[in-house]
Amino acid sequence: MGDELGNYRRKRDFGTTTEPRGNQRASRKGQGSRFVLQKHDASTLHYDLRLEIEGTLKSWALPKGPSVDPADKRLAVPTEDHPLDYADFEGVIPEGEYGAGTVLVWDRGSCELNTTRETDAERQLRQGRLDLWLEGVKLRGGYTLVRMGKRAESQWLLIKVSDEGADRRRKPLKKQPHSVRSGKDLNTIAGRTGEND
Ligand code: MN
Repeated sequence: MGDELGNYRRKRDFGTTTEPRGNQRASRKGQGSRFVLQKHDASTLHYDLRLEIEGTLKSWALPKGPSVDPADKRLAVPTEDHPLDYADFEGVIPEGEYGAGTVLVWDRGSCELNTTRETDAERQLRQGRLDLWLEGVKLRGGYTLVRMGKRAESQWLLIKVSDEGADRRRKPLKKQPHSVRSGKDLNTIAGRTGEND
């Protein structure tokens, strides 16, 4: 955490990948933050949760994706900061590039962080707990991101808060697989079939 975009850029060849290099400025103060969940069909399928904090997208990889069931805690492994304009990225990362595979914008929207002047988001990240309020298309309401250990590299959990956005029966990963950006599914974005166009 806190690496800004150095690691992000070192891992990528921007002559090959169409991912953004990251020149976009941070949102104006008071404008609120954004979140995105990108379904990433790489060497293993996973979801990437990215939250706008202090001008970058703080990122976690979720091997099993998010859940809307408060009893269903989901592993969240911290990954490198991404540039803000990555929130709009959907497409194919070419073979040989870092994260090669297909990226689909599975959900996105606003993200409110429960911060005060004393406990800003950077401090909460260091302390290992973020309380989020998401207003996405598929995910809504409170979520807690909590680190399971003291070290910066420790893994985190993403846990749904019991509120009106919680639902034990709803299975959004399975039932709502399409992109909220383009309406496409993974195969269509990857160009594997034309059947879903
Ligand atoms: Mn990923």
